[in-house]
Formats: sequence, C-alpha cells, structure tokens
Amino acid sequence: MERHQVRKTHIVLTSHPHRIFKESPVLEWGAKNPGKRGPIVASLTDKSARNAIGSHSGSYTVYRALAMAAGKLPPEHKPDLTNTAPTVRIGPHASWFDPTKIVSLDPWGAEVANVFRKEIKGGLDVRPSIAVTQAHLHIPEIDDAIAKGRLKTDGKVVLANGDVVVTKVAIEPVWYLPGVAARFGVEEKELRKSLFEETGGMFPELITRPDLKVLLPPIGSTTVYIFGNPDFLGRKDKEHTCRVHDECNGSDVFGSDICTCRPYLTHGIEEGIRTAQNGGVGFIAYYRKEGRSLGEVTKFLVYNARKRQKGGDSAATYFHRTECVAGVQDMRFQELMPDILHWLGVKKIDNLVSMSNMKYDAIVRSGIKVTRRVQIPEELVPQDASVEMEAKKAAGYFADPKQVKRGKALKKVRGRGLNE
Ligand SMILES: [Zn+2]
Repeated sequence: MERHQVRKTHIVLTSHPHRIFKESPVLEWGAKNPGKRGPIVASLTDKSARNAIGSHSGSYTVYRALAMAAGKLPPEHKPDLTNTAPTVRIGPHASWFDPTKIVSLDPWGAEVANVFRKEIKGGLDVRPSIAVTQAHLHIPEIDDAIAKGRLKTDGKVVLANGDVVVTKVAIEPVWYLPGVAARFGVEEKELRKSLFEETGGMFPELITRPDLKVLLPPIGSTTVYIFGNPDFLGRKDKEHTCRVHDECNGSDVFGSDICTCRPYLTHGIEEGIRTAQNGGVGFIAYYRKEGRSLGEVTKFLVYNARKRQKGGDSAATYFHRTECVAGVQDMRFQELMPDILHWLGVKKIDNLVSMSNMKYDAIVRSGIKVTRRVQIPEELVPQDASVEMEAKKAAGYFADPKQVKRGKALKKVRGRGLNE
C-alpha cells in the first residue's frame, strides 16, 4: 500500500509527544552494507517515517519553503530520479564501514536510487544527498599556464582548446550526531543543546528526540572536482594531489585582491591537472565555509576594521582584528573536513596544496598520510594580499622558513588604505 504522502493542513509540531515514530527505518551508522545501515529519511510528507532531523538541500531548504508558500511547488512533489545516476561510481571503500571515519555525510548518498530501490518503490521518500556528474572547465589561469608552457594540452585531461575535463561531485551535509560530538570531544547532549539554541530553536527534535541520531543541517554543501580517472582515488600506486579549499566568493569568483584564495585555488587546479597528466589523480574539495565560516558580512566588517585601524592594514595585527569583530580568529574547525577524503577512499596525499596547519593536522589525524605540502609560488600572491600571506606565515602556516618575516619586517607589510 502507498504510504500517506499528502501534507496535513494543520501543523504537527515535530516535538509533539504523540510523535513516537515506531515506523522510522532503523539506522545503523557505519554498518557493513546499505541494507543494514538503512536509508536516511527526512520526509516532510510522511513524518512518521522520518529518522533524520531537518530536511534535504542544506541551506536551500529555506527556498523550498518559499516556493511552497508561494504555491509554486506542490507539497507532495517527490523527485523523479530517472537518468540521474552518478556518471562514475565512487566506492564503496573500507572507510564507509567505519562509523568514526565518516560522520558528516552519507556515504550512500549518491546511490540511494540504487541501494534503496525497494524502499523507494514501497513509498519511502529517500533522497540523494550526493550527485556525481561530468563537465569541462575553462579557466583563464589555466589558459595562462598553457601559454607559459607550464601545462600542456593532451587531448584527454586538457583538450586542444584549453578545456579541462573533470568529474564533479556535490555533497550535502548529513551529520551523524554522536560521531560529530566525538570529533569535537563534547557530549552529544551538549552538541544538541548548542545546535538548538544557536539556531534560535530551529529544530526542537534535537532536544526532544534523542533517538533521532542524524541531522541534515541547514548549511552549505561541498563540491569535489576530480582531474584524471576517479578510479585511481585510493590506489596506493597512483600519485594523489589535493587541495581542500574553503570558499571565498570575493576572490574565487570576483577576483578581489585582498586575499590569496583564487590564486591558491587555480594553483591547486593546475597542480591537480599536472598530476592527472602524469598518470595520477588530482582533486579539489571546495567547502562552503565563507570567510572562515564567519560569513561574508563579518568578513567585510573585518576588512574595514583592518584598513581603518591606526597605522592601516598590517600583517602584524591581521588575526587580532578578526578576533575583535568575530570573537574568534577562525570558525572553520577542520575536524569534519577529512570526511570527504575518506568517502573518496583516499589513504595518502602525495602533494597537499595548502599552507594551513589546521587542515594538514586534521587530515593527518584522520589517518591519511601526507607526503609533501605545496606552498603557493610567490609570484601568484597579489600585492594587497601580502598582509594576509605574511600574517599567516608568521603565525606558523606552512612555508619556507627563509621566507617568514618577523618583528619589524612583519610590521612593514602593509595593505592598501580603504579609499586607495
Ligand atoms: Zn579570500
């Protein structure tokens, strides 16, 4: 029999004591096979079947609410998944069956239409949280690398017109709360309480339903761009080059020159392509953690505070100004970042294109071996971004010790004024 699918007209509070969801599919995180693990169900049309808190699409769930409020989207709509299957299969890898290795995404998220076919046919609203597709990229910096002879076209990874062939993967967050709490070294109860309170009480089930262990948090997704054959991921005999990049819209997209984000991103792409052309595999994991996860408004406030302070923008006070506005220097907490690497089956990284110790430490701590750390070539750093770059190097980010400025030399590193 088809399960009840139409949303009720009256509002049923998720925390209502009558909502004892006996029908909720059992979840066994990290189980040996998908059947045993069970599907993640965040259905809003069949609330009795839910075994997750929150809803799909991360932060975009709010737009779905708008569409529905405006009468543009029928509440009973379920995705038709015909022809949406991944273009390449990723996994399963041994790490998928370790409940501690992956706690912030659903390893089976790309395969739900396949592995939970029976459940979907039976009426369960199981949705993909990962999608895998193919694309061509055209990037001016890669054109430049070709023109300057640093990269060659090979008709395979880089086509004659400069197009770069990639596999791209979009991953929505799926948090297994006991695992996330363990990563941060806090009690699950404390984590739930903090999530509930700091979102203005957005998800009462965090408090009322300790039996629901999975949260689909309303935050941004992660994208992976893979250069070369994705089957090489995790193979010991294949060179791996990787950049884990945190979003910076101003630089990545608009070319704003106060930071090194886009130069670092395109440098990572170039290194990834080079490895793929040499028979290995390269990839960029791109995390929506704008402005060190402080958000773009805070970031722009900090820019103003940096440039207006006495003496102007200076490498010596770079981190301090962020802390004054945001309360912390950085809110990215790289603890969950390696999950995606484990999902890809990565066991070692030959070349890690990053200067961040937080990222390096998190990757190594998660059991992935890093052989070499790759610094950004100096000529790729924009002039105004030298404040950020020198501040980071002085704070201990990975860099050639000969290039690290201290004391007076550090104080001399200045950025443009606000109106310059
Ligand atoms: Zn940036």
